[in-house]
Amino acid sequence: MAEILDGKKLREKLLGDLKQQIDKFQTKPSLVVILVGDNPASKIYVNNKKKTAQNLGINSQVINYPANITEKELLKKIDELNNDKSVTAILVQLPLPEHISKENVINAICPYKDVDGFTPYNFGKLFSGAQPVVYPCTPKGILLLLDEYGIKLKGKHAVIVGRSNIVGKPLSQMLLNRDATVTVCHSCSENLADIIKTADIVVSAAGKNIIKGKMLKSGCVVIDVGIFKDENGKTRGDVDFESASQVASYISPVPGGVGPMTITSLMLNTVELFNKNLS
Ligand code: NAP
Repeated sequence: MAEILDGKKLREKLLGDLKQQIDKFQTKPSLVVILVGDNPASKIYVNNKKKTAQNLGINSQVINYPANITEKELLKKIDELNNDKSVTAILVQLPLPEHISKENVINAICPYKDVDGFTPYNFGKLFSGAQPVVYPCTPKGILLLLDEYGIKLKGKHAVIVGRSNIVGKPLSQMLLNRDATVTVCHSCSENLADIIKTADIVVSAAGKNIIKGKMLKSGCVVIDVGIFKDENGKTRGDVDFESASQVASYISPVPGGVGPMTITSLMLNTVELFNKNLS
């Protein structure tokens, strides 16, 4: 039976340490989250971020624009926040309405306030093997979880399912930096099950229930990033937990695995930006 990679427990530990650090600061870090429109899932994510930040003593503000805001107005606000010395970190909640270019908006954020690590500057740094100002939150959280449980990465075959900019792509580079052998799969990958069978570490971020226990190599480590509601409204991950936990050595649950680590990384990044912008 696999050991659970407990993201909630690690969140408590890391955020407890972070709060002690923040308590000692004379001025507090500040996180500004921009939310465009009223996507219900985005609202929940944004509120969680705000609440977590406030509990830590991070000044947190949510700027909520109606869905019909123009790209120009949004870019103007970002420019204002970039130049506001009291703002440590800027996060634009995705997705954005279709009439707004996600690329233009992300590109507009100052790399030293880019708490998600998504700007071309930070992405470019990451992919050129240099250190970005901060690392993207979900991949960073996954590595924190793997490290907490002493899971070795060097020389191991990691198979990532999903090639998005927020999970699969940056994680592939971060695992390469840690000397893993990395395969990235996507919706056009042929023989997905055969590839997964060769993995020492499987990270699934497809947003679909696609991984079953019989697809896994015995003793592998399973990281389930996916989170969605099934037809009965139940929160699910990409992995069939019951069958996978019979085969794997470690497995992250949904909920309670990667999700808490993503928000933890966001808080860690806010404080990292704060310290970097002071020095
Ligand atoms: P995304 O942008 O929709 O990307 C999904 C990826 O999965 C794409 O690369 C897609 O391939 C691939 N894919 C889809 N169906 C597949 C299949 N049947 N076989 C193989 N690959 C397949 O999603 P995302 O933003 O990365 O998020 C993925 C999931 O993780 C979602 O459930 C999301 O809610 C969750 N998530 C959770 C956290 C967290 O903190 N827990 C953070 C981020 C995301 P193509 O590129 O070919 O389309």
